[in-house]
Amino acid sequence: MINMDIFHGFLDAIHHLPEMAQPTALTDAERVTKAKAVMRAKTDRGLALDLEACVNCGYCSEACHFYQSTQDPKYSPSRKLDLLRRVHARETSAFAPLKRLFTPDITVDDLKEWQELVYDSCTECGRCSMICPMGVNTARGVNVMREALFEAGLAPLELQAVAQEQAGRGTVFGVGPTELKQTLDVLRGQGIALPLDEPKADVMLVSTVIDVLLYQDALAATARILNHLGVRWTLRSAGFEAANFGLLSGSEALQHAATQRLIDEALVIGAKTVILPECGHAYPALRWEGRLADGQPLPFEVLAVSEYIGREISSGRLQLLPAKGEEANRKITYHDACKLARHGGVMDEPRAALQALGMNLIETTPTAEKNWCCGGGAGVFLLNRAEGLRHKAWAIKREQIEATGADTVVVSCASCRLNFMAGAEADQWNTKIDSVVEMVARQLPT
Ligand code: SF4
Ligand code: SF4
Repeated sequence: MINMDIFHGFLDAIHHLPEMAQPTALTDAERVTKAKAVMRAKTDRGLALDLEACVNCGYCSEACHFYQSTQDPKYSPSRKLDLLRRVHARETSAFAPLKRLFTPDITVDDLKEWQELVYDSCTECGRCSMICPMGVNTARGVNVMREALFEAGLAPLELQAVAQEQAGRGTVFGVGPTELKQTLDVLRGQGIALPLDEPKADVMLVSTVIDVLLYQDALAATARILNHLGVRWTLRSAGFEAANFGLLSGSEALQHAATQRLIDEALVIGAKTVILPECGHAYPALRWEGRLADGQPLPFEVLAVSEYIGREISSGRLQLLPAKGEEANRKITYHDACKLARHGGVMDEPRAALQALGMNLIETTPTAEKNWCCGGGAGVFLLNRAEGLRHKAWAIKREQIEATGADTVVVSCASCRLNFMAGAEADQWNTKIDSVVEMVARQLPT
């Protein structure tokens, strides 16, 4: 059961984030110099090819929920990379001396204008790249722009505040080891075994501030599934937070520091597998970008919890009780989180889990890797200024789900779930919002 007071308290806390940020004092010239240094350093061969390959055909606009829901040309994906393109043309391209003659240099006003374009109006969902005939990876370019703006002290204050908290006190929204232990004690009171700080384990479970505070049932459900499977697992209080505000704000140093905490704890206990909670961006942060200090690949497997469950079900190790009565008649649809499906290829496993429930699973159109983003990912949900824009983009998602006739939409990302809940409340939308891990746990054999 979700405590709606906590949900509303979380929304309220977001409104106060800007007051908590410690802005960076830089002159305008310093901001431009720092931003350009990042853009130059990050423009490798792949990004240079992307910047030069765009033929301005505009197809990507049709794929972007922010453009589609507003029809405002400023939200066109290709335009989001224009500043990067200008710096590349003037400073790193083959004909830079010539291009400098007719390409204007960027200014601090440009950087401030682009803050909205690369934070508020891009969830780095990657949908535009699937449509682009030139294969331009806009999301990667947007991420480089975020890194440039962060270095220039121009990341949105909300993201600066949380990134600074995570880097400084090691907490996120005030949640650290003490709050984790309190939540675990509450869940243990329900009779669920939740090992913490075991010195050795095969599986390290990672959680997230949202589950510790709000979606405690998801954490409890994961524990029940692992216990049912007889896995030797543990949470680690020194490395349990999957949310990575370095990645979302654009700070590579903070991103690596947050990831390193998880890696260190997994190495200490000799984990063979790290299971990430229902959190979209945690997946690329650890699975694709996590590395050992010497740059070598991680010596353990990293799986999203929906991926892990789907594999266990497909292998026959995890069997569920079939839905009965009213439950068997439920019509459910699945929302693919962009970072899991489009970026990570995790599409079959959550579906294997949902099919095992014995309900009617109806796919959205389009679905899987072509699915529409919910509009709240990559930190957009935390940006107060983006609320109206985010709500417009969410309408595409809502209509897509309504067209299935499903009574329940199932998600596997807590950030998507927050955005769905906020959209549902604003629109008085009655479709039930559920999670893969919670639904599976409800049908475990006793
Ligand atoms: S990555 Fe997604 S949100 Fe960003 S420009 Fe492309 S389609 Fe739009
Ligand atoms: S679809 Fe590709 S080539 Fe066309 S405008 Fe968008 S980024 Fe450029």
